[in-house]
Amino acid sequence: MFSGLLCCPDCGGQLIIHRCRDRDGSLLRSYICTKYRNSRGTQHCTSHYIREEILSYLAGAFLHKWTD
Ligand SMILES: [Zn+2]
Repeated sequence: MFSGLLCCPDCGGQLIIHRCRDRDGSLLRSYICTKYRNSRGTQHCTSHYIREEILSYLAGAFLHKWTD
């Protein structure tokens, strides 16, 4: 949903979607910094991990504020 729209605040790289399983087996979608993923660590950047549902909530709150 947000792929290609988000930039890392530290390195300016793109945030890309990252899929993983939650403890109960449900699929989680989140976004992480590409540089972090490509370097597999904190050498180039930190993960800036954020869950998609939190982004959706923030985007909704933002749009609501500016379109009211
Ligand atoms: Zn970054």
